[in-house]
Amino acid sequence: MDFDDTPDQSRFRDEVRAFLVDHHDDLAHGDGSNLEEPGVDRVELLRHTQAVLYDGGLIGYTWPPEYGGGGGDNAKQAVINEELHRARISGPIGHVGLGMCGPTVLAHGSEDQKERYIRRLLRADDMWCQLFSEPGSGSDLAAVRTRAVLQEDGWHIQGQKVWTTLAQYCRYGILLARTNPDASRHRGLTMFVIDMHAPGVTVRPLRQMNGHTSFNEVFLDDVVIADSERLGAVDDGWRVALTTLMNERMAIGGGGGELGVRSDALVAHAADRLPHLDETQRVLAVEALGRVLVESLAARYTGYRLQTRIEKDGRPGPEASAGKLTAVKIAHATADLGVRLLGDDAVLARSRDGDWRWASSQASTPGIALAGGTDEILRNILGERVLGLPSDSARTPARSTPATTATDKR
Ligand SMILES: Cc1cc2nc3c(=O)[nH]c(=O)nc-3n(C[C@H](O)[C@H](O)[C@H](O)COP(=O)(O)OP(=O)(O)OC[C@H]3O[C@@H](n4cnc5c(N)ncnc54)[C@H](O)[C@@H]3O)c2cc1C
Repeated sequence: MDFDDTPDQSRFRDEVRAFLVDHHDDLAHGDGSNLEEPGVDRVELLRHTQAVLYDGGLIGYTWPPEYGGGGGDNAKQAVINEELHRARISGPIGHVGLGMCGPTVLAHGSEDQKERYIRRLLRADDMWCQLFSEPGSGSDLAAVRTRAVLQEDGWHIQGQKVWTTLAQYCRYGILLARTNPDASRHRGLTMFVIDMHAPGVTVRPLRQMNGHTSFNEVFLDDVVIADSERLGAVDDGWRVALTTLMNERMAIGGGGGELGVRSDALVAHAADRLPHLDETQRVLAVEALGRVLVESLAARYTGYRLQTRIEKDGRPGPEASAGKLTAVKIAHATADLGVRLLGDDAVLARSRDGDWRWASSQASTPGIALAGGTDEILRNILGERVLGLPSDSARTPARSTPATTATDKR
């Protein structure tokens, strides 16, 4: 892959850069730390940022133009990503919609659904969430128990979802429910678009160890969904869910971007803190810093290779799992080093915002390691689907998830 801009890409980069300068005061900026509770004001600010970027053609750049996208290519999308990163623009608040729900609606939705939903999703006019996980169904997603029963007025939904990111701010969600309890686990599931404001939907935020409440329990008590809001065929929801899961891994780590605090913020922090450390701490910190920076660079270039591959194949493959595994590892190493650089001052981090971002980020990264497929599940997928090793269920037939392969799980 040639990393130099073509003349056309270079012109495009200048345009993007100029747009971000012109709209500087209209956009939310940050260093990637997960400091602020996503309260209503913050969410509104970030929605506004996403709308400004969308109106400027910088969100949905590669999405189909007939539904509000830009119809552009991945190489220019990479230019946009780099310029957003360079300008320190906060990541889009509608990331679940952009990364998972939107691609699923595009791949499996009806014309009517695509026309009604995609443009507003891109602009964060409507936020979207993903209602897959349940108390007894996380890695083993095919164990979903939420029921959908077809009656005259539509599908009646009964059940509970959990860990639903930003559900308290969302208008719509994609919901995986069991429609045929007699079919095999993977055959009896169906995907729906659910209106989160419909009667019977109750959203309860959950407090996380980083202090935030960015995910929720969602109770579904006889919620009615019209049959026209089905995504894909009845009992074919597993296939639809696989589209979501592949896009999810790609969205979380596949692009080679940074999760958590940015590495340039870590470098600035190190420059500030190294003089306060003793000789041994300093040597260890510099070595760790070198490792984090090299790994970040390697992850970015691996992300570019993946993008090139998608350009050719049209969709993310199982390799996206490697990107997510690596991005999470780097995010954790970055936050961890940020805390270690504080030395003894780390105990006071809570009282100083600038320092607290490292501790807060350190408390957030274990959660990112679980979201969108745990490290163990992703390693299973890489072992089986990329390296061609035997499936874990073949080696451990007594598991609670027999007769499935890792591809059947998150
Ligand atoms: C920050 C965050 C955001 C999230 N957002 C959403 C969301 O928006 N929507 C949504 O639907 N879900 C969401 N989730 C849920 C997430 O997808 C699940 O947490 C994840 O799939 C793991 O499921 P579980 O928590 O039930 O753990 P379990 O599946 O019970 O796993 C427990 C442990 O067992 C290990 N394990 C399980 N099976 C195997 C196996 N076959 N081989 C080896 N090890 C195994 C796991 O790796 C893990 O360490 C989110 C989670 C987090 C932390």
